[in-house]
Amino acid sequence: MDIHEYQAKERFRAAGIDVPPGEIATTPEEAETIAAGYGGTVVVKAQVHSGGRGKAGGVRLAKDAAEAKEHATAILGMDIKGLTVEKVLVTPAEDIDTEAYVGVLMDRKKQAATFMVSAEGGVDIEHVAHETPELIRKLTVDPRYGILPHQAFWLANFLYDDPKLIKQASKIIAQLYDAFVNSGASMAEINPLITTSAGEVKAIDAKMSIDDSELFRRPDVEAMRDTSSEPASEVKAREAGLSYVKLDGDVGCCVNGAGLAMATMDLVKYYGGEPANFLDIGGSSNPDKVVAALEIITSDPNVKAILFNIFGGITRCDDVARGIVEATNRIDIGPPIVIRLTGTNEELALEILSDAGFSAYTSMDAVVEKAVELAAGGA
Ligand code: GDP
Ligand code: MN
Repeated sequence: MDIHEYQAKERFRAAGIDVPPGEIATTPEEAETIAAGYGGTVVVKAQVHSGGRGKAGGVRLAKDAAEAKEHATAILGMDIKGLTVEKVLVTPAEDIDTEAYVGVLMDRKKQAATFMVSAEGGVDIEHVAHETPELIRKLTVDPRYGILPHQAFWLANFLYDDPKLIKQASKIIAQLYDAFVNSGASMAEINPLITTSAGEVKAIDAKMSIDDSELFRRPDVEAMRDTSSEPASEVKAREAGLSYVKLDGDVGCCVNGAGLAMATMDLVKYYGGEPANFLDIGGSSNPDKVVAALEIITSDPNVKAILFNIFGGITRCDDVARGIVEATNRIDIGPPIVIRLTGTNEELALEILSDAGFSAYTSMDAVVEKAVELAAGGA
């Protein structure tokens, strides 16, 4: 789960990091009022789950409240990488001396949090990592001890020469680790970490992604979810209790069990097709789940054929069959559907489907081959 900059900043502040104040506006008038309250120059910043807002024109300095209103008018409703801006953060502008990068993310191979820091901040860090990797210092944290003072110092020392700055940055690095761990994050990033002409180190941008598996035990973090910023299909899938990941192909897949769903996608590729999604309808699927699954799959305009692959164990094939029949009665499904069912109550399921005019397969190979053929425009 991604959270907004202003939310990540709240977590950072709670961990003690020096983050400038800020308030959220959803209208230009609100932005104007907030800016007037701060006085002086402010920054109006688009709140979307995406980096590179600056380049897209979503981060603008305003010298007074009237200009803040103008910028908010331009930014609200703006499209940044396919996301519509619905909120802006208004924050007093800082006087920037230098911009550095500090990030921590979960390294799956090392099974531990790994820091990356660079004095080349403010810019795209992937670009720095690719072109000039020597400008990045990395450190993997032992989860038993957390980040130790000398390690934080070693990282900070890569950013600055001035001991006063190193001291402040070391503290922020340790606090960032706390915010990361206490939020169940998979990634937390300050880009840029600035120094001001007054010699202060501050975080003026914040980015954080939360590990979805951490959410059940962190209701305060889950409460930060902004469904209006998430793809509608993923919101719907989550609400229906389905695991869904949208992909770029044209064969819509509806499968029970994550392993079978993966195997089905592999087989689609094997037969020369491209899956449109990963979708696991889960164990004991009731007809409502199947209806929701079909609604989600058909909302993707790329889908040319829909493939059901159900192995009935706890899932009863007749439940899924009823769901398919009910869904086709309730909603208008354009693309052809091919179905493979095997296992618990298979005979009953085949009866329900054939009564409704569907033909079902029991061979996985045959059904996948057929789905790929249909998606490619075959009959
Ligand atoms: P991003 O483009 O989405 O990463 O948004 P950032 O918050 O990182 O802002 C992009 C850039 O805008 C920064 O790297 C700064 O150069 C500039 N910027 C952001 N906030 C301020 C500020 O308070 N004062 C000044 N002078 N520049 C800022
Ligand atoms: Mn940034």
